[in-house]
Amino acid sequence: MSKPKRKRKNRQSEDQGLDEIPRLPKTKPLQLRYYGDPVLRKKAEPVQEITDAEMTLAEEMLMTLYATHGIGLAATQVGVLKRFLIVDIDPEDADYEPLMLFNPEILSVEGESVAEEGCLSIPDLRADVKRPEKIVVKAMNDYSEDIQIEADGLLARVIQHEIDHLNGTLFIDRISGLKRQLLRDELEKIQKADRPL
Ligand SMILES: [Zn+2]
Repeated sequence: MSKPKRKRKNRQSEDQGLDEIPRLPKTKPLQLRYYGDPVLRKKAEPVQEITDAEMTLAEEMLMTLYATHGIGLAATQVGVLKRFLIVDIDPEDADYEPLMLFNPEILSVEGESVAEEGCLSIPDLRADVKRPEKIVVKAMNDYSEDIQIEADGLLARVIQHEIDHLNGTLFIDRISGLKRQLLRDELEKIQKADRPL
């Protein structure tokens, strides 16, 4: 998910160079897949075991997340159909460890909230999305441990947005038909845009 526009702390952190983010891995960012790419509509497969390949993917995805100033990224968005996502809702805070979730599954939901979302795979388009306010998620972390997370607010929203990606669902699927109709031209533009590979 891309960073919410209204919640940016200050302009300075916006202009922060990548070298200033302390835990940035020494790998190259991956190529993002954009709206219109059929891979974004596919269902990702469970990860059986965390091997070196998964750890490399995790590092490359983190690099990609920070390079694009995002706060969440699903493996599907870099064309890898594995059930894996990363979330870092506060990239400038080195004390906040990014979440790395393999095979995430929502166990329960509570409440309802509406907030604006954007997506790294659908640049420059934002819309209000209604989702449960609180969630309990089980997953495997990058140490192959089974974990459970209770999340609310922005964290809950980002995790749900990224789990959607693993199922081939985009946030625009969750907005009303009328609003989606209004966004149709913008979506078409995004689909046809020329992007460097
Ligand atoms: Zn997204």
